[in-house]
Amino acid sequence: MKITSVKGFHDILPEQSAQWSGIEAKARAIFASYGFGEIRLPILERTELFRRGIGEATDIVEKEMYTFADRDDTSLTLRPEGTASVVRAYVQHSLHQQAGFSKLFYVGPMFRRERPQKGRTRQFWQIGVEAIGRDDPGIDAEVILLMHDLLAAIGVRAPRIGINSLGCAACRPAYIETLAAYGRARVAALCENCTTRLERNPLRLLDCKVETCGVAMADAPLMLDCLCAECSAHFGRVRAALERESVPIELQPRMVRGLDYYCRTAFEATAEGLGAQNAVGGGGRYDKLVKTFGGPDAPGVGFALGVERLVLSMREPFDATLCPEVFLAPLGAASELDAIRMAHRLRSDGMRVEVGSGDKSLKSQMRLADKVGAPYVLIVGEEELAAGALTVRDMVAKRDHERAVGYPCAAAELRGMLERLSANELE
Ligand code: AMP
Repeated sequence: MKITSVKGFHDILPEQSAQWSGIEAKARAIFASYGFGEIRLPILERTELFRRGIGEATDIVEKEMYTFADRDDTSLTLRPEGTASVVRAYVQHSLHQQAGFSKLFYVGPMFRRERPQKGRTRQFWQIGVEAIGRDDPGIDAEVILLMHDLLAAIGVRAPRIGINSLGCAACRPAYIETLAAYGRARVAALCENCTTRLERNPLRLLDCKVETCGVAMADAPLMLDCLCAECSAHFGRVRAALERESVPIELQPRMVRGLDYYCRTAFEATAEGLGAQNAVGGGGRYDKLVKTFGGPDAPGVGFALGVERLVLSMREPFDATLCPEVFLAPLGAASELDAIRMAHRLRSDGMRVEVGSGDKSLKSQMRLADKVGAPYVLIVGEEELAAGALTVRDMVAKRDHERAVGYPCAAAELRGMLERLSANELE
């Protein structure tokens, strides 16, 4: 029986991988311009980190984590997201003492045991940033601006950024009480999940996808109408900065995000081409998380983008060309050594070169060269090398040319010759 990958866990083959690398390259360039440095995080953490960080009453912690006991019975979890780990590292390495303000980014796989569908897998890649140490609205705006710039650089189709404020410890508890009371008065119309949420996490009543819940909660009170003066001023300044930079943001007063640690600014980006799972990324402010993990009273704000969904929503794929520029076809075992040496030299000059097998006939090597998409084949035989004239086969025009080629030749020399050949300047 064939062994296949685990459900929801996928291989990323070279052509797809080129999209991943293209996105990462764009992200790294933009992160550098905004002054974010990379943090490489472990994939395994103590389960406790996510329970305390993400929140007990969230879908992730309740039912989606890959958790197991280590041999010494420590409960470990494959990380379902990056923020908790970044904050743990920030506290563990006392980063607040090194710099008043830390700007970090990460790239890597996350794990959630969700029901797989288009744009939703159990292992997925995230690119995320965290800015820890500032609570002013300017940094929220800059982080959202960064996400906006990145989506534009990747060429995501019709990106939209929704934004909301989730209030703070001063104004949220009273709002949640009002919201829960509103829900309790309509409990008969709520789904089973929402009935539980009423007690455990009433905010989630606002974004339930079940139709009857949507109808029942249609006129529910909104956090935006209940913000305290500080939260309201903070949110106003975030929006003003983004509007001034012409970042098209939409006010989404029902957006609550799935993680407990957010306060004040919350945002989410959607794009076309994704089907039901149309969020490409999201984030928000988390002012109490660092303290929850035993660190100083350092506020933070960040976001994560899902790479699979970015790839699905890109207008144009990144160039995935891996075709060799030239294929060397040795004639016999002795010539194979010459072909390998020649390829070695050309490759060290940065040329993409493929070498055939001297044990194979020229015909079968030609077939292989065609298959791998090489535009030219250089026939490397002992006599040809001795005479300093190799046969170059133009695979597109299907013509042979005798050319003087030094051995082993430099890439510049060979490239120049092939370019002139393709421009018909050598006939
Ligand atoms: P979250 O950490 O839940 O805020 O998610 C941030 C982004 O990660 C989402 O907008 C998606 O692009 C991506 N993401 C989250 N969960 C999955 C998943 N199961 N499969 C693929 N991408 C995901």
